[in-house]
Amino acid sequence: MADEKIKTPLLDELESGPWPSFVREIKRAEETSPVCTDLLGQLEQSYQEKVGHWKHGGIVGVLGYGGGVIGRYSDLPDKFPNVAHFHTMRVNQPSGWFYTSDAIRTLCDIWERHGSGLTNMHGSTGDIIFLGTKTDELEPTFKELTEAGFDLGGSGSCMRTPSACVGQARCEWACYDTMALCNDLTHEYQDELHRPPFPYKFKIKCSGCPNDCVASIARADLSVIGTWQDDIQQDDVAVAEYAAAGLDIQKDVCDRCPTRCMSWDGAKLTIENSECVRCMHCINVMPKALRPGKERGATLLIGAKAPIVQGALLSSVLVPFVPADELMDTLKELISRVWEFWDEYGKNRERVGELIQRVGMANFLDAIGLDPAPEMVTAPRDNPYIFFQKDEGGE
Ligand code: SF4
Ligand code: SF4
Repeated sequence: MADEKIKTPLLDELESGPWPSFVREIKRAEETSPVCTDLLGQLEQSYQEKVGHWKHGGIVGVLGYGGGVIGRYSDLPDKFPNVAHFHTMRVNQPSGWFYTSDAIRTLCDIWERHGSGLTNMHGSTGDIIFLGTKTDELEPTFKELTEAGFDLGGSGSCMRTPSACVGQARCEWACYDTMALCNDLTHEYQDELHRPPFPYKFKIKCSGCPNDCVASIARADLSVIGTWQDDIQQDDVAVAEYAAAGLDIQKDVCDRCPTRCMSWDGAKLTIENSECVRCMHCINVMPKALRPGKERGATLLIGAKAPIVQGALLSSVLVPFVPADELMDTLKELISRVWEFWDEYGKNRERVGELIQRVGMANFLDAIGLDPAPEMVTAPRDNPYIFFQKDEGGE
């Protein structure tokens, strides 16, 4: 099939319009990779029939690893032999997705030698995704990757490749060094990453501030989101400059503060910092005038997942604040307690957030030895089984 030019009228439609087109890119790759011709042919057939022709299943991988390769086969191997096997390899990305040009070229050259040449930079887990190779090419690809200093990422019921925003490398809002933490976590949990031992997947994502550029609160089983403990740093001269330049501070800043803890009298901006929930809105609008406080660290949250079995879950606060320099030690302790409980009580293919929903947050906290804190409550009177004493903020 690869030798003849196949017609793809439905896919061709996806090349129209001003936006980038994956069809156009696959056609460009056809010049060097016959796999792409069969890939387009099979995809066109799927569009015509409204039926997917990929089948998953069968264990494929590299020696010593239980994850990192996702097996995929065509159910039309006679018609499209070049995509009879079309396995995906996940390659552990560098923290913050920083590469040298040489590193990118090395990766692409390896993949053109051993696979389709098609990549997805990056998958939603964060990894570099190599799309499409044959079983026989897995070990040679892995060998070249490791010789070049790369490793496979996680897949299956394991600790997935941790990911992080660019953090302090480029972003002034980072409240801790996301890239260092991501790198440390990746090295610490190599075994759990490469040899799936869990009821289901476990993702850790590190965002440097509540803007949460890696969307950890929606996607990570354990979210590490930078925050601060003291007051927002405020430069009144710069505030006045924003006002003089035409910013409507009342309407665009104060009225949009979720806790209404800001006031503006036309000359002076006042923030009731004890009521601030660190949403970042005011700082994003007036970056030259407002900055996160100086006592920085992160909030640890647990239990997000995308909607597969039971609908989407957002993370819940587990530890309201950990100082930046204590993050790694606290995380190691917390992760061991969470994993022990999940390992013992989690059902097959049950994410930790679903387990917490099933057993209740109060029981979960009890099991991992954490006291409930007001920050864990999603909404007032949300959980009638946790009672606070007066000295803990109860009524
Ligand atoms: Fe910057 Fe915050 Fe986004 Fe990280 S999450 S890149 S610190 S804005
Ligand atoms: Fe209000 Fe958010 Fe600014 Fe805090 S960070 S003062 S909650 S807008």
